[in-house]
Amino acid sequence: MTPRLAGTALRRPDPAREAKREALAQVRGIYAKLGQRPFQRACTSSTGCCQFHVTGRVPQLTQGEALVAAQAVRAAGRKALPERSDGACPLLRTDGRCLIYNDRPFGCRTHFCSAAGGPVGRTEVLDLIRELEVIDQQLGGAGPRALESTVAAELARAR
Ligand code: SF4
Repeated sequence: MTPRLAGTALRRPDPAREAKREALAQVRGIYAKLGQRPFQRACTSSTGCCQFHVTGRVPQLTQGEALVAAQAVRAAGRKALPERSDGACPLLRTDGRCLIYNDRPFGCRTHFCSAAGGPVGRTEVLDLIRELEVIDQQLGGAGPRALESTVAAELARAR
């Protein structure tokens, strides 16, 4: 028989919570691996890639990336995405810095503007993209989706 301490109840592990926790660690591991790749590019912090109305490109997030981003938004003290009406990323702060820089999505880590050396080619990071896709499937995701709606949905789910 399993010994029990008086006054304590045994908690059953929650599989969904465990899967989430594992996914968060795996995605951050993928970001770390990406950071170790020897790309000849350097971000100049111009925030050009965060101006979606200028680039015409919005980062597409897998479900695991959305979990990481939403957790970072909550860690920054917010329960919802900041409102923004100028066409820039809602996570771009008014001081020109990213609200979740250390946890920014994969697309933000690979889409360098031309001043910074140009985007990283998909074939250079295809193995890491595949890893993100596997995590997406494990979480029941529907493939990469636009940053704003994906992160907003994840934040709403956590409320
Ligand atoms: S998440 Fe951060 S780095 Fe990515 S587009 Fe938004 S503000 Fe820029």
